[in-house]
Amino acid sequence: MTFASLGLIDPLLRALDTLGYKTPTPVQAQAIPAVLAGRDLMAAAQTGTGKTAGFALPLLQRLTLQGSPVASNSVRVLVLVPTRELAVQVHKSFHEYAGNLPLRMAVAFGGVSINPQMMKLRKGLDVLVATPGRLLDLHRQNAVRFNQVETLVLDEADRMLDLGFSRELDAVFAALPKRMQTLLFSATFSDAIRALAGTLLVDPLSIEVSPRNTTAKGVKQWMIPVDKKRKTELFTNLLRKKRWGQVLVFVKTRKGVEQLVGSLLAQGITADSIHGDKPQPGRLRALERFKTAEVQVLVATDVAARGLDIDDLPQVVNFDLPIVAEDYIHRIGRTGRAGAVGEAISLVCADEVQLLAAIEALTRQTLRRTEEPGFEPEHRVPVTDTGGQVLKKPKKPKKPKVGGGRF
Ligand code: AMP
Repeated sequence: MTFASLGLIDPLLRALDTLGYKTPTPVQAQAIPAVLAGRDLMAAAQTGTGKTAGFALPLLQRLTLQGSPVASNSVRVLVLVPTRELAVQVHKSFHEYAGNLPLRMAVAFGGVSINPQMMKLRKGLDVLVATPGRLLDLHRQNAVRFNQVETLVLDEADRMLDLGFSRELDAVFAALPKRMQTLLFSATFSDAIRALAGTLLVDPLSIEVSPRNTTAKGVKQWMIPVDKKRKTELFTNLLRKKRWGQVLVFVKTRKGVEQLVGSLLAQGITADSIHGDKPQPGRLRALERFKTAEVQVLVATDVAARGLDIDDLPQVVNFDLPIVAEDYIHRIGRTGRAGAVGEAISLVCADEVQLLAAIEALTRQTLRRTEEPGFEPEHRVPVTDTGGQVLKKPKKPKKPKVGGGRF
């Protein structure tokens, strides 16, 4: 199958040629014709499956061939995403695909000045990629009107709900036109997402490109049991011994991120961080430094788990396991992208066994255990079974009571 056979126009085909995209991915093969035909979509697709092009390409085509020019402060395609990083990434993809088309596009997210975003909106936009909070701010200040919205895309809808955006989303939905095309993308489908789909979508085409709640194929996953206090030492040891190139490391807390970066820098290992406390320019700079290989290790909280598009990332390390099991799927989705082979290694201490069990239950697998010589834990990590349950330790037989003074 080719992109041309899906009915895409020449300017888009040329852009894809420049980018080196040869064949459509499964989500693209299904989504592109449906979106071109104006259908609603409910797609279970993880990051790394090519879903962005799956919606961006047909929407760019519709914007070019149909509809009326955009009025000032209006928007024709609205793409809602959960994080700033994903907003930047999706906007960049739209730009790359639309290189040969005369369309106006912009991105809006919080944590940076709102004025330049308002300026961009003045002339109207064919595509606006935004996070829900900032979009509402812009709407409240009359910088954006929704009456011309033809298509709404909810990208990583599950993550938007996880991050607590449901009130903002409801406010946006209430202000949107009643009749429009809606495309909903989500890596996982909880009851809340299904309810959202029920209210927003009309006769949607359902696309499921990978079974629900499974981890990306092509990613070798295993865990190393280790005592909590020795994780940093184990990590630097692995980095050197295994001669890892660039590594993306996930740590549970912002403080933990900074501590690990501090230890790595102290040992002469180049590292930078991405987390919610860091101002947006610093986060973008850290990502850029990682992408250009100026730093070897990027340490992040789950804020960064979604939306990071880094080519050929061979290693993802879970320094701490995620609190929400589904984040495991998103974290390791940063490697093994577009068919490449990757490795995801989790450093697991005894305290984290319940989190491990939840991940194994969700992904329906038992993570292979490999002890690292010299790092065998003093606090054993209990064995988990394939159902994701922690195997209970056999109860010790009760000791008969001694003494008692009856005699
Ligand atoms: P996404 O799932 O949208 O984040 O895309 C994952 C990665 O795959 C991005 O780096 C895209 O540029 C790349 N990609 C998307 N579609 C294709 C394709 N048909 N052929 C090659 N690479 C692709």
